[in-house]
Amino acid sequence: MMSYAKKTKKVTKIDDKFIELVGSMFNTMHKASGIGLAAPQIGIEQAVTVIDISRTEEKKKIKTEPITLINPVIKDFHGEITMEEGCLSIPYVRGEVTRPETVYVEYQDLDLNKHYVELKGFIARVAQHEIDHLNGILFIDHMNKEEKKILKPELDLIKKGEIEADYLLAEIPVKSSIHTRKKR
Ligand SMILES: [Zn+2]
Repeated sequence: MMSYAKKTKKVTKIDDKFIELVGSMFNTMHKASGIGLAAPQIGIEQAVTVIDISRTEEKKKIKTEPITLINPVIKDFHGEITMEEGCLSIPYVRGEVTRPETVYVEYQDLDLNKHYVELKGFIARVAQHEIDHLNGILFIDHMNKEEKKILKPELDLIKKGEIEADYLLAEIPVKSSIHTRKKR
């Protein structure tokens, strides 16, 4: 299993290599029917994440274009909502996580121009999960001790490398199946 505990480095320069990275992140995410992908999930320790919920059920409720968040920071938040989350970096494990319902995110685009946006509902949830990845935090870190205890056998197997994700590289939409296989 890759190490996710590291905090990523700030992106300060956009060059061809970086543009290529973002392109391949989108490809990887779409191939895995993902809704979000953070650079550390493909072994790149840079503060960039891509999000695209346009192919999910949620699309009908909110119109959202695919976005690239560079150096995103949550500046403010309010409300609280509990939703089920999963992460292909942690196969077999899904759980309820309580997070703010609305977040205010400062980020930079591919020209390094700064933006400040209000994100609500599902997209806010995905953004928080992805921004967490950039800070070395996984969704299970938000669970309480009791919930973690229940999941311990699965988490131990993953840690030992006995379970490996088919698509280690992307998030999965809520309600889709988790593709995993036993490592030989
Ligand atoms: Zn994840």
